[in-house]
Amino acid sequence: MSQLRTRFAPSPTGYLHIGGLRTALYSYLYAKKNGGKFILRIEDTDQGRYVEGAVEIIYRTLHETGLNYDEGPDVGGDYGPYIQSQRANEYMFYAKKLVESGHAYYCFCSEERLESLPAVNGARRYDKHCLSLSKEEVEKRIAAGEKFVIRQNMPTEGSTTYHDAVYGDITIDNSELEDQILIKSDGMPTYNFANVIDDHLMGINCVMRGIEYLSSTPKYNLLYDALGWERPMYIHMPPIMKDAQHKLSKRNGDASYEDLIVKGFLKDAIINYIALLGWSPKDDTEKMSFDELLAKFDVSGINKSPSIFDPLKLAWLNSLYIKEMSPEAFAEYATPWIDNCYLKNFDKALVCKLIQSRIETFAEIEDKLRFLVDFGAFDSSLYDNQKQKTDATVAKEILPLVRDKFDKVKTWDNQHLYEALIELAQELGVKNGKVLWPARIALTGLAATPGGASEIAELLGKSETLRRLDSSIAQLN
Ligand code: GLU
Repeated sequence: MSQLRTRFAPSPTGYLHIGGLRTALYSYLYAKKNGGKFILRIEDTDQGRYVEGAVEIIYRTLHETGLNYDEGPDVGGDYGPYIQSQRANEYMFYAKKLVESGHAYYCFCSEERLESLPAVNGARRYDKHCLSLSKEEVEKRIAAGEKFVIRQNMPTEGSTTYHDAVYGDITIDNSELEDQILIKSDGMPTYNFANVIDDHLMGINCVMRGIEYLSSTPKYNLLYDALGWERPMYIHMPPIMKDAQHKLSKRNGDASYEDLIVKGFLKDAIINYIALLGWSPKDDTEKMSFDELLAKFDVSGINKSPSIFDPLKLAWLNSLYIKEMSPEAFAEYATPWIDNCYLKNFDKALVCKLIQSRIETFAEIEDKLRFLVDFGAFDSSLYDNQKQKTDATVAKEILPLVRDKFDKVKTWDNQHLYEALIELAQELGVKNGKVLWPARIALTGLAATPGGASEIAELLGKSETLRRLDSSIAQLN
């Protein structure tokens, strides 16, 4: 086979959906692993679904995620145009060729006639009515300005088989294939026609796409055969589900790449997770960098069965990527989340130090640290802790001593504050927890918080720390 050429052919209908991004990722990985080229084509012939700005989102997402295409509308290449609507004349040229060879025909049937056709198994099938029109009659009607479409003339007997790299041999009885429309009455091609013409003219020899196209592919293969073109290799991918019953769907506004970024997921974690939606490496590793994906990706690892988009697993993977960021990289990435909420009034480096290992997404930062600004009366049963042997009575005794120690701390930082608390425990001859637990509860009013008493006190600053201790002590009296 000549050089491998795969493509990603999204329709510009909005944000880049997770399913689309997975197609792009697998096509990219497969091409690159095999020394091939990865090509972007924009499929914009369905003008009704076109969304302004969607093309830019596609370019941006692919560049951002490192899925850099070798050829495409904004980077050029020798097989253009890379935007479907710019190839309009060619579709008509090949449709006419198919008419000449008897593989397609003009159809003038009215909407009313089509609607009056009997339904078979719930679906109306075109009955080849216009196939019998003579060439002269067709020419006369076209010359008279009658509206027409061009339909594919499907064989009525026999079957069509092809091999899919994931799903194996797929065979369809030709009698099941409808004479689908190739050219619409507005002169534009349907997807069903354009994808074949485009893929051939762009030298695409490996078509990777969602399973929803598996059963239409025999129709496309008949077009390749009719035009005397070599069929590409096919790799169809399993569906991505929202749950056992429902597909994750762009139309329902389910997860898109940009949504996930806004929710605080990292690009690398998203790509890593998407790679696992329908594929797994032989060694079952889950956390993989882009380079590792490149090294491990293999078509034999693509599953046939649907995969479920699991936000919890994505969040878990994201937390691993967050933990391994350098403090500088974390601070830089976290800045918008910190600057856009009450946290902007706190020491950013301290906030980052406290939170980096304790979040799964960046969006959690705001909620997890809300106790830094929200503090009020709380239930004194929070002081109960069997393991640390504390309760409200212990707290009542310890907290004034904590306050004294803190008041005397010269350098207000975590290390000195922590040392003060440990010193107090030693002086009292009790375990550290008996001081640390009530101190943290008194400062936050919460059973669980990121960080311990000294880290929190450092962030709150001396006067707020002492104010909170005073208020908690007062509550116990
Ligand atoms: N434009 C089609 C889609 O977005 C592409 C299908 C294909 O890859 O052939 O679903």
